[in-house]
Amino acid sequence: MDFLDTPDEAIFREQARSWLAECAAEYRNPPSEPYSEEEFVGRARRWLKCKSEARYSAILWPEAVGGRGGTPIQQVIFESEEGRYYVPNGPISNLGIRLAGPTLLQYGNPDQIERLVRPTLQGDILWGQLFSEPAGGSDLAALQTRAVRDGSNWIVNGQKIWSSWAHHADWAILLARTDPKQPKHKGLTFFLLDMKSPGIELRPIRQISGKSDFNETFLTDVVIPDSNRLGAVNAGWDVAMFTLTNERLGGAAADTGVDSRTIYRIARAAGLLDNAGVRERIAHWFAIEQGLKNLRYRVLTKVSKGEGAGPMAALSKLVTYRKLQELSAYAMDLKGYSGSFGDGDASAEDAVFEAYIWSAAMRLAGGSDEILSNQLAERLLGLPREARSDKGVPFDQLTR
Ligand SMILES: Cc1cc2nc3c(=O)[nH]c(=O)nc-3n(C[C@H](O)[C@H](O)[C@H](O)COP(=O)(O)OP(=O)(O)OC[C@H]3O[C@@H](n4cnc5c(N)ncnc54)[C@H](O)[C@@H]3O)c2cc1C
Repeated sequence: MDFLDTPDEAIFREQARSWLAECAAEYRNPPSEPYSEEEFVGRARRWLKCKSEARYSAILWPEAVGGRGGTPIQQVIFESEEGRYYVPNGPISNLGIRLAGPTLLQYGNPDQIERLVRPTLQGDILWGQLFSEPAGGSDLAALQTRAVRDGSNWIVNGQKIWSSWAHHADWAILLARTDPKQPKHKGLTFFLLDMKSPGIELRPIRQISGKSDFNETFLTDVVIPDSNRLGAVNAGWDVAMFTLTNERLGGAAADTGVDSRTIYRIARAAGLLDNAGVRERIAHWFAIEQGLKNLRYRVLTKVSKGEGAGPMAALSKLVTYRKLQELSAYAMDLKGYSGSFGDGDASAEDAVFEAYIWSAAMRLAGGSDEILSNQLAERLLGLPREARSDKGVPFDQLTR
């Protein structure tokens, strides 16, 4: 029972709890050994399938496509209950459920929805995101990958970077330039790319941890049928913004399991609960978490009514990861760690390390803190816009 639930919400929470107790029993505790990447991906697929059979994979999606047709609050309740387990969720599942799926539902035609949405829910299709480029990160509209029309196909050439888990993706969402004569935001088109297509080369980026979660993706004469274009030609910017808003909102769910309760537990174990400074920090973060939860309800409600989340998603992401980084750093201080880092996979003990590292990355991914702050300043607070010398200038006339 959560005392903030209405009676209906309490019933839903109880149902979700008992379903999880049965179906996620093997994930009650952290794995004794870290999974290999292949093992993790296999488990992620199976967990999606399991959830989709019980209609928990995508609570907000319509029943007709395999969702539950549920409410935003049910979504948040399920996430918080699922967050008590060490289930194999992660970017490889989220890219489909939080990014590609909602974008398909919003912009896809019936054929695209029929072909791709249900298999995504069931874990049969995992997705990658091919947006960022070496010269098009924060300034995504500066991307240079070209898609040229060739009859009923498009021929794509270019390079993407930071393609998370793309080496396990069956399909990817791709943003490419289709008209360089138009200003940079106007000549872009959004595509769905079958990752088995010839001409795709993935080069892993090796991280300092030794892992390779990201790739450089080289596209050479890759053929995409026009039937895999999402939205109108040269209208890809709006589609991509819809995707990124969902990414920011999804990220703000921050399913790391590290929050004010973590600090409470660590402080209790260390006998520090009498310390007024520690108690003040716990209360501070607890208050922020309640604000974020309510903001998330509001935004999800807007989204489920077909209204855009707009800058609220940016606000949610900005506060979530700043808080997570400060909170996890504080947790490490309380635990007396100094410069030692676990591998982040195996134990609950490692969760604060992982949250600390992850929060730093997430302050960049899907729109950095600075970009989101600019967005909030301009769109929410109505402050003067940043000077844009490239506004209205055809892309092929910009100096690069
Ligand atoms: C964990 C992770 C996963 C990712 N996964 C994917 C993925 O799967 N697919 C994908 O396409 N991309 C992915 N990305 C890329 C991500 O979207 C970009 O890193 C992000 O958009 C920033 O772009 P950049 O790295 O080129 O940084 P840059 O744009 O070079 O920015 C560098 C710094 O300059 C600041 N800056 C830039 N412009 C401004 C400005 N106008 N005002 C103020 N400050 C500014 C930024 O805030 C940042 O601090 C991922 C990134 C991370 C960290």
